[in-house]
Amino acid sequence: MWASRALVRSLAPPDWLSVNVTLRCNLRCVMCTTCYDSPELTTRELTGLLDEAADMGVRVFNPLGGEPLVREDLEEVIAHAVARGMFVTLTTNGTLLRPERAARLAALPPSRLHVNLSLDGDADAHDRVRGHGAFARAMAGYRALRDADAARGNPVRTIRANVLLHRGNLHGYEAFLAWLEAEGFSGVQQLTLFRDESDATVGGMWFTPEDLPVLDALCARLADARETGIGPARLLVNAPDDLRAVPRYYRDGLTPRDAPCWAGWKELYVNADGRAVMCDGTLDFLAGAYGDVRRQALRDIWRSDALRARRQVVKACTTPCIQGCYLRRESDSLPPIAGALAANAARPVEARVARTLARLRPPRPLDVTLVFEASARTSDDAGLEALWRPDVAPGARVSPAALRAAPEGLRRAWERGSVDTDRGFGGEELLAKVLDDLDRGGLRPRALWIGWRGDAGLHPALDRLVALGERRGLDVRVAMTEDFAALHPRAAARRVDVAGVPSGPCRVVTWDARVLTDPHDRRQTRIVGNAWEEDAAEVLARAYPPSTSSSV
Ligand code: SF4
Ligand code: SF4
Repeated sequence: MWASRALVRSLAPPDWLSVNVTLRCNLRCVMCTTCYDSPELTTRELTGLLDEAADMGVRVFNPLGGEPLVREDLEEVIAHAVARGMFVTLTTNGTLLRPERAARLAALPPSRLHVNLSLDGDADAHDRVRGHGAFARAMAGYRALRDADAARGNPVRTIRANVLLHRGNLHGYEAFLAWLEAEGFSGVQQLTLFRDESDATVGGMWFTPEDLPVLDALCARLADARETGIGPARLLVNAPDDLRAVPRYYRDGLTPRDAPCWAGWKELYVNADGRAVMCDGTLDFLAGAYGDVRRQALRDIWRSDALRARRQVVKACTTPCIQGCYLRRESDSLPPIAGALAANAARPVEARVARTLARLRPPRPLDVTLVFEASARTSDDAGLEALWRPDVAPGARVSPAALRAAPEGLRRAWERGSVDTDRGFGGEELLAKVLDDLDRGGLRPRALWIGWRGDAGLHPALDRLVALGERRGLDVRVAMTEDFAALHPRAAARRVDVAGVPSGPCRVVTWDARVLTDPHDRRQTRIVGNAWEEDAAEVLARAYPPSTSSSV
C-alpha cells in the first residue's frame, strides 16, 4: 500500500469498498448533505459489484447512505458480501431496524457483520439534530438487533455508536459515553462536523468561541482516558492524538499533518448511481466522478488514469482535515510501514511453517467424518415462485421440480447466491479455518462430507469447497440432488445422495459458525465450540480426547 502511494499506482487492491446503496433517508438531520433522490444500483448490480470486489481481494464492504435500511434488499446484498467472504460494516440511523429486519441481520454471523449506529447524544440532544422521536426509535432498533442475536444464540455482535461531538452534547458528553457503555455498546466512534458553506453554524451545532475552553478540557480528558483505559471514554476507538486535535480543528488551527490521507488507496467509494467518487481535496466526498461501475469493471476503475489523477490531488492535499476514517494518522515514515510489511510477510510464512510441522508430525487419525454444512436449506421445499420476484427474501426455498421447470429461476438464485442465507451457508473461509486448525492440531478426520441438513448444490461456491478439501488430501463427498449437478462439475463427480450423509456416531458437524459433535446419537448433538472464535482442533480434542480417538 505504501509503495502504491509513493508511486501513485494501484499495486494493491483497496482494503474496503464503500457504497452509498441509496441516498434516500427517512430522517432529515440538520447537518446532512448526502440525503436526496438519486438513481440507484439494482440488487443484481450491487451483488455483481460485490463479486468483482471479492475477486479483486477486497475484504470489507461498507454499505452507506442515505439510510441503507431504506432498501428492502439490503439484507440480501449484505448476505451476498458475507457469502463472498467479506466483512461488512453497516452504518445506520437505526430507526428502521424493526424486529423482522433485525432477525434477518442476526442470521448473518456476528464476526462478519458489524453495525455502526448513529447517536448524537442523549434523547434531547439527538432529537434536536435528527428529529422528534428519532432517539427512541434508534434505541428500539439497537435493542431489536441485540434481542435477535440473543434469540439465535449468537455471540455478542460488535455494535458501535457513531457519535458526533457537537455543541448540543458537549456538556453531557462523558455521561452519555457512560450510558452507552451501560447499554452494552461495543465501542464509540467520535465524529467531527464538516463546516457547510451555506450554513456556517451547521444548524447550530458548530462550537462558539465560548464553548472552546470546555471543548479543550473535554478532549484532553477523553484522550487521557483513551490512553489509560480508565473511565467511559475507554469505549472510544479514536486515537488519543486525534482526540487532542479536535479543538484545533474547530479553531481553524489545524495545520496539514505530515501523515498522509489514504483516500483512493485504501478505499474505493461508489455513489448510489454507480459513479466512483472520492474526496476532491476540499472535503466534498461526492464531487466529481472518475468512473462508473455500470460501464466499467471495478478493476479497471481502480487502475484507471482518472483515479491516478485524483490520487495526485489527495497526495498534494493541504486541507486541514481530521478524517480518521481515512487513517490519516498512518504515516509514510518507515517504522510503521516496515512493521506492517513484516507482519504481512510473516502471516503466510507462519501458516506454512505450521502446516509443514503438522505434516512432519504423524497426524492423529480421528475416526470421525467432518460434515461441513454448506447449506441449511433443503431442496425439496416449495417456493420457487419467490425467486421470480425482484424482492425475493433471503432464505427463499427451492424445489427441484420447480427448478427443472424453471432454469431461469435457478440461474437467478444461483447468481445471487442468496437462496440459503437464513442459516448456515458456511463458506470457503470457514472451511479453510477449520481444516487449518485441524492440521495444526495434528488431527486428521476420516472424511469430509459437504452438505448436511440441506442440499449442498445450493451453495454457489461448492466447487471451490470441494477443491479445498481435495487439496488437503481428504476423501470428499458431496450430498446434493442431481438437479445441481450441471452447475457444479467438480462436486458432481463426488456426489452422493442427500440421504446418504452419515448420521450415526463418529461425526462432527460445522453448522453456521459452530462446531458440533455427535459421537452417540444425532438427537444428542451438542454445540461444543464456535469455529469462528475458537481453534477447531481444541474443540475436537475436548470432544474426542486422545484415548477415544480410535474407538469412537
Ligand atoms: S440519518 Fe444519515 S442520511 Fe439520514 S438525514 Fe440523517 S445524516 Fe442524513
Ligand atoms: S486529507 Fe481530507 S480533505 Fe484532503 S483528500 Fe483526504 S479526506 Fe479529503
